[in-house]
Amino acid sequence: MEHKPKVIEASVWKEILIDTGKMEKLGSVKFITLHHTNSNPLHPYSDKVRLNKILDFHTKARGWNDIGYHFLISPGGKIYEGRNIAFQGAHVEGYNQGNIGIAVIGDYNVEKVSQGLNDALRYLVEKLMKRFGLSIEDLKGHRDFKEIHPGTCPGDFIYQWLREYNNE
Ligand SMILES: [Zn+2]
Repeated sequence: MEHKPKVIEASVWKEILIDTGKMEKLGSVKFITLHHTNSNPLHPYSDKVRLNKILDFHTKARGWNDIGYHFLISPGGKIYEGRNIAFQGAHVEGYNQGNIGIAVIGDYNVEKVSQGLNDALRYLVEKLMKRFGLSIEDLKGHRDFKEIHPGTCPGDFIYQWLREYNNE
């Protein structure tokens, strides 16, 4: 039987209510940007606990209105809704307008892309590209936005996945 990925709604995992009153609209979609959360893969948290820890960090320590990413994907390929896609995210400094943020949970300088993660990324990226009329050049890695200090996000293994996907 073919495994069909689906998006798990934010209401299933978010332990706090989000006030969307002050949030800016996403605007016309120009990019999809891939990230990793750079979290330690050895921490034995469930997805729900891990997602709420990220949400907590983004809303309390960073002072944002909601989690920074629009989607988060577990290492095994479960897709979770993050911030409502109607609103601008907080994931690429200076480039959040019209930019959909997808973060894979873990450290992809160390972890490799599993089959489940590959399937989930393809499913989500293709669905979003179709919905917003984007082409393959509009799919980016976080480091593509940083010319001076590119950094390592979304991790070498996700970036490699992105380059291979781009060349198909
Ligand atoms: Zn990033």
